[in-house]
Amino acid sequence: MEYKNLFYVLAGVLFILGLKRMSHPKTARSGNTVSSIGMLIAIVVTLAYFGNLDFRLIAVGMIIGTIIGGLFAVKVQMTGMPQMVAIFNGFGGGASALVAAAEFFTKVGTPSQTHYLMGTVGISIFVGTLTFTGSFIAFAKLQGIISGKPITFPGQQVFNGIIALVMLASVVALTLGTGNMMLIITVVILSSAVLGITLTIPIGGADMPVVISLLNSYSGIAAAAAGFVLLNQGLIISGALVGASGLILTKIMCKGMNRSLVNVIFGAVGGEVEGAAAATQKLNIKSYSTEEAAMIFDAAEKIIIVPGYGLAVAQAQHAAREVADFLMEKGKTVLYAIHPVAGRMPGHMNVLLAEANVPYELLKDLDEINPEFEDCDVALVLGANDVVNPAARHDKSSPIYGMPILNVDKSRTVIINKRTMNPGFAGIQNELFGYDNSIMVFGDAKVMLTQLLADLKEL
Ligand code: NDP
Repeated sequence: MEYKNLFYVLAGVLFILGLKRMSHPKTARSGNTVSSIGMLIAIVVTLAYFGNLDFRLIAVGMIIGTIIGGLFAVKVQMTGMPQMVAIFNGFGGGASALVAAAEFFTKVGTPSQTHYLMGTVGISIFVGTLTFTGSFIAFAKLQGIISGKPITFPGQQVFNGIIALVMLASVVALTLGTGNMMLIITVVILSSAVLGITLTIPIGGADMPVVISLLNSYSGIAAAAAGFVLLNQGLIISGALVGASGLILTKIMCKGMNRSLVNVIFGAVGGEVEGAAAATQKLNIKSYSTEEAAMIFDAAEKIIIVPGYGLAVAQAQHAAREVADFLMEKGKTVLYAIHPVAGRMPGHMNVLLAEANVPYELLKDLDEINPEFEDCDVALVLGANDVVNPAARHDKSSPIYGMPILNVDKSRTVIINKRTMNPGFAGIQNELFGYDNSIMVFGDAKVMLTQLLADLKEL
């Protein structure tokens, strides 16, 4: 075995240990560091192995990349994280496609042009290019550059099917090495680019994080394929790990919404939902001030805080922790209920609350917390909507029917904070707001919580 492979195995072990540590907020940061060390080892070994390189060019690339990556990491808001991940996936896929294309142009027409090489080049370019264009569409949808609603046209599936067939036929022709190779590679690139766009535009904004996770998996597959092109074991290992972990994450997210992957990709869910506005009229809404809400909290013993996307938008995690700390100092029990798809990406709420130093042991996931609502005095819903909508349990016509929800309605009182009666991401009204035990406290989550804390202190 070549010495470099030993280091690649070491890097692979560090990647796996890092991934394992990333599965819990407490160890996630160190997991990131462990994986980064693995990547550094892989890069240094690769560069050392190919001794006769122009290191100046590589250094320039690394400096530019470090500055851009560092700026992104520092500047991006938690709510903008899915977009950032989308861009990174896109660049990952694009880079793999470029590496494979470079191999194509150096080896085509030479004795090194083998069926194996051209086949793997074709796969790498196809998956990489599709990931690149698909990721940028996902980014544009989440950033509001193009509509987040599903964009569909008649015969879309047939069109996609034809493009996919053209692309597959071109990859086969590339592998066999017959015909005009330049023309074939152009067809592979163009058809994959088009397919990335047409497969992503019909997917609604609410499903975009699932798609981003899937594209993340694709970028890993493209990298692994590029590893086969270059016969680089390190790239194969890291690509396979990204591919597998992206797929596992995609599955977890689909399960959290009780949807199949096929439904996410081809269901075009997320358009206008009829009757949503009309349903608001029928709800009997009770709106309270923070002062009135403070009195309810004062009398409560057990309180469960339910954070949602609105908490992230308002950056109200610190204010929520301050209210919780005050209530706990008064001898009350406070827990946090974390829904697997609350927010806009997996782990969104865990990360936000960890940032505000909420103790991990107070964060309870869906299965653990749902029985707790039965003897809970107040459930405080902060900018969460779909993940607490009881229609998911009984309304077969609801687009979120079957999605596991947090059973906040079982609490004695539910206090819901949001700014307006606007629906959440799924675009549907929430019947919970009209329940007898529900009270609305309207306003921005951070402003409301700050005022609530002041009112609590005055009691
Ligand atoms: P929702 O999108 O259902 O609701 C968020 C609510 O926050 C809105 O009703 C909004 O109402 C309110 N809000 C917005 N800004 C503020 C503010 N500044 N202060 C107070 N409230 C605010 O969020 P959930 O977390 O309940 O549900 C997540 C949704 O995202 C689900 O539909 C889920 O399927 C989807 N999703 C999540 C994924 C994940 O991995 N987490 C992946 C894919 C999809 P108003 O405008 O009136 O204030």
